[in-house]
Amino acid sequence: MPLFGVLALQGDFREHLASLTELGEVAVPVRTVEDLGRIDALVIPGGESSVIDRLSRIYGLADPIRQRIADGMPAYGSCAGMIMLADRLENPAVASNSAVQETFGGIDMTVRRNAFGRQVDSFENRLDFNGVNLEAVFIRAPEAVQVGPDVEVISTVPGADPSSRGRIVAVRQGNLLATSFHPEVSGSAAIHEFFIKITRGDA
Ligand code: GLN
Repeated sequence: MPLFGVLALQGDFREHLASLTELGEVAVPVRTVEDLGRIDALVIPGGESSVIDRLSRIYGLADPIRQRIADGMPAYGSCAGMIMLADRLENPAVASNSAVQETFGGIDMTVRRNAFGRQVDSFENRLDFNGVNLEAVFIRAPEAVQVGPDVEVISTVPGADPSSRGRIVAVRQGNLLATSFHPEVSGSAAIHEFFIKITRGDA
């Protein structure tokens, strides 16, 4: 039975732990290199990616996570987690000391942070994910503005609004999965179910 870890430095990691537990999986918070060493698959939660970046470096987790991802560990990132899995950021945060936000990387894509506007512009939308129609919650959400040839686009924003229609909000590359939206908030199980399948080698 795989052991799932949820990166628990900042953001809504408790919701991801609950989502995985409700589906019958064993999931533990990851805060140290020792925690990381025990797990078979990692979820990176929504939150604030520049904070997750900074804390993961302070806790000495950034390089070990990069290495595990490079070695093939399955990983799923929602929202800020999607940003952390991007190889490239179009608009990284720049701190007052001029430090530029970094990511763990792994998915050959360029991500634009806060692509759908600011906090007040959070919205919900029904969209298709691998044939499942689900409610997607977007909160200062990113989008993939460019994806490489090995990246499968799973979901785009539907609808008639030309300013959002067709924008890429769920992708997969090998064992790595990322969504702009928060299934851990809306309670749609389909994304976690799919990630569990990826982890078990069934998808
Ligand atoms: N805008 C946030 C960031 O840049 C992501 C928001 C979220 O995870 N809900 O990290």
